[in-house]
Amino acid sequence: MSELAKPRRVVLKVSGECFCPPGERGIAMESVMLLAEQVAKSAKEGIQIAIVMGGGNILRGGQFKASNASILESTAHYMGMLATIINGLALQDAIESAGHPTRLMTAIEMGAIAEPYYRRRAVRHLEKGIIILLAGGTGSPFVTTDTAAAQRALELGADVLLKATKVDGVYSDDPEKNPQAVLYSELTYEAVRQQRLRIMDQESIAKCGEHAMPVQIFNFRTPGNLARALRGERIGTLVTDKK
Ligand code: UDP
Repeated sequence: MSELAKPRRVVLKVSGECFCPPGERGIAMESVMLLAEQVAKSAKEGIQIAIVMGGGNILRGGQFKASNASILESTAHYMGMLATIINGLALQDAIESAGHPTRLMTAIEMGAIAEPYYRRRAVRHLEKGIIILLAGGTGSPFVTTDTAAAQRALELGADVLLKATKVDGVYSDDPEKNPQAVLYSELTYEAVRQQRLRIMDQESIAKCGEHAMPVQIFNFRTPGNLARALRGERIGTLVTDKK
């Protein structure tokens, strides 16, 4: 198969905030369906899609840190990982009701509802055009699903790691606080590190940089943006090693 004919493969990181309307928590199936419909449509165009779900709409391990010493921090992180599996179940049904097959794969074994994550099996699913939903993060506490997304993008040989966020991309400063903040369309990993730009946790972006994995950050709430990013359009901010 020529390089040109190689299908595009993406890892899409969707935070928990994609599972509910702005400012709310929990799961709203209207929000999940918006996501599901765009993803199903792109998969039909031949794009191989692996989705790493966050869980912040339900629970983040760090939230118990100060307030409740009776939950160990590690336990709280496992609870956060389970939240991502709850999101995965919701997204699975939503994508299938939008007409595309999926497999839910988890980093923490949960045989009654999902397959355990194996890299080789995940690749097989992708090659068959099945959308894979990667839940449970890395399976280890004290990191976030950004780490899982970077890890999976590298091991699955993705062309890009797409990060769906609520802002248009990476800004020089917080655009909600500073109206002068500039939106970057391109950045290098080095610039992200030097300017301490908060795109994803630092280890994850460093890992992507080490292995030249492009990272694209875009606003998933703008209608059509998700499909455009999946297709490879240059929206939002693209982080690469190209100066
Ligand atoms: N988590 C973890 N290990 C992982 C992935 C996630 O311990 O590999 C826990 C962690 O507590 C995290 C929570 O699961 O806060 C939910 O994930 P995340 O915060 O990344 O969700 P998002 O902010 O993307 O909605």
